[in-house]
Amino acid sequence: MAEAMPQNPAGLLDRWRELRDDIEATGVRLLAVSKYAPEEAVAALIAAGQVDFAESRPQQLRDRALRYPAARWHMIGPLQKNKARYIARHAAAWHSVEDIDTARAVDARVEGRRLAVFVQVNVGGIAHQHGVHPAGLARLLEGLAGLPNLSLSGLMCMAPRDGDARACFAGLRGLRDALGNGSLAGAKLGLCMGMSGDYRIAIEEGADIVRIGSGLFDATSETQHPG
Ligand SMILES: *Cc1c(COP(=O)(O)O)cnc(C)c1O
Repeated sequence: MAEAMPQNPAGLLDRWRELRDDIEATGVRLLAVSKYAPEEAVAALIAAGQVDFAESRPQQLRDRALRYPAARWHMIGPLQKNKARYIARHAAAWHSVEDIDTARAVDARVEGRRLAVFVQVNVGGIAHQHGVHPAGLARLLEGLAGLPNLSLSGLMCMAPRDGDARACFAGLRGLRDALGNGSLAGAKLGLCMGMSGDYRIAIEEGADIVRIGSGLFDATSETQHPG
């Protein structure tokens, strides 16, 4: 493991500053998706002041949460019940809640705190995509309301690979706004949406949190560049 002084691998800190300034100027939070990032890149970003990181594999989240306790580690990938304890113990927030059984398994293992959760929605109802179908959202939210250690923070979505990102993001906002007039009146839920290729569209459509991986860590990626 790299114990060397954090450097600026391949312009990482320049990309980070540019993205951070672009994103946080709008009041939106930047999640650095470090699932494929090497340790030295993570260490360099933490040293530069990035706090929120996201991982898609529970064991890597656990390992990094233990290694870098000053950062906040967000879970964004599909979760199996037998990995629930890693998220219950180490995640700052869990953004990929999609079924009540897995949520119960995590809730049962959270100790001494409430874990912030986002429900991942399959906005277009597309086959084989992760997330709860919009028709099942209200029922899942009702179930979550009965779990004492989970605290509903918002909704999350991923735009379909070759689909209309703006329609997906606007759809998630519409689902959130419809809930606001109903059973969840009062608590304004956040929207976690937008990745390297579409984050500016997500911000235009009301994102509160964007998740950026390749556009930050991969010098060769096609990011939607600011401006
Ligand atoms: C990998 C991943 C991201 C980051 O995607 P990039 O296109 O690399 O920015 C965002 N959200 C989720 C759920 C992911 O799995």
